[in-house]
Amino acid sequence: MKLPADFQKDQSLSKYTTFGIGGKAKYFIEINKIDDMKNVIAFCHSENIPYFIIGKGSNCLFDDRGFDGLVVANRIDFLERPEECVFYAGAGYSFSLLGSQSARQGWSGLEFASGIPASVGGAVFMNAGANGRETCESLESVDFVTNEGKLVRLMRSEIEFSYRHSSFHQRQGAIVAASFRLTPSDTAREKQLGIIDYRIKTQPYKDKSAGCVFRNPGNGIAAGALIDQSGLKGKSIGGAQVSLMHANFLVNTGTATAHDILTLIDVIKKEVKAKTGYDLENEVRCVPYSLQDHTINGKI
Ligand SMILES: Cc1cc2nc3c(=O)[nH]c(=O)nc-3n(C[C@H](O)[C@H](O)[C@H](O)COP(=O)(O)OP(=O)(O)OC[C@H]3O[C@@H](n4cnc5c(N)ncnc54)[C@H](O)[C@@H]3O)c2cc1C
Repeated sequence: MKLPADFQKDQSLSKYTTFGIGGKAKYFIEINKIDDMKNVIAFCHSENIPYFIIGKGSNCLFDDRGFDGLVVANRIDFLERPEECVFYAGAGYSFSLLGSQSARQGWSGLEFASGIPASVGGAVFMNAGANGRETCESLESVDFVTNEGKLVRLMRSEIEFSYRHSSFHQRQGAIVAASFRLTPSDTAREKQLGIIDYRIKTQPYKDKSAGCVFRNPGNGIAAGALIDQSGLKGKSIGGAQVSLMHANFLVNTGTATAHDILTLIDVIKKEVKAKTGYDLENEVRCVPYSLQDHTINGKI
């Protein structure tokens, strides 16, 4: 067993994340076949090489030193229709495209996905959501490569989901495909177009960001509103800035480092606590340089 030959050394991670931030990965590989994913993961497991899976990198902040292991970019990109109402997609498939394609064809359940710059795998892992809907709601099953390199199919009932969380956070391995069962709808397309329109008007989608950095604290309270109330809109440290359009988005204005973003995160947490009493928690996944003291894909 060995790594496929086309892995790269010292690859800059900044071009693989929507933040545009991150040092170099010691090893880096793009995988577009399920069998290759099985081999790579089994190899890392047997050789004790730390690995980290990414999709579109739209919720990741890599360290300025990069990553001391293998970064695996999931590019398993297919879409099949085993039944008319079932969309079975590779984990590297664009979640946004899945949302717009299915709605255009008159299927409801994933309209909210339109405009979320995720891969299907990343959306399942994060239980991505918007407009009161979440990924897990129409999910039927997930194909998962275990840390030993075995392919298993997990039904929705075997996976736990909650707000921006799934039980994959506690499991090493890779999501390689997912199946969604949608319902016919005459209004899906109209709804999806409304969602994308609202997104464009309310989010700084042209800036380099990772979407909402903080989880909403619950009871209908929005983290962005707390940051705004604390007078932090526009606050900047180095190249990192609290977006003027949406206070829960931190943007890289061009030269931001991970250190700038992390320092701004700390300042926001302290100010929001002092001014509103709320403790903000990260939604963005801050990936440390070394996973030695952390669970892979775990609580990092
Ligand atoms: C402009 C913008 C708007 C956004 N809007 C929203 C929104 O409305 N709602 C929302 O929920 N999020 C939103 N996000 C955040 C982000 O798109 C989601 O969290 C998304 O689910 C991340 O998907 P990804 O493929 O980019 O994952 P990545 O950022 O690549 O990875 C995120 C986590 O998932 C894990 N992961 C990814 N793929 C796999 C896999 N195949 N197997 C195992 N683990 C995997 C990674 O290890 C990492 O821990 C937004 C981000 C941006 C930049």
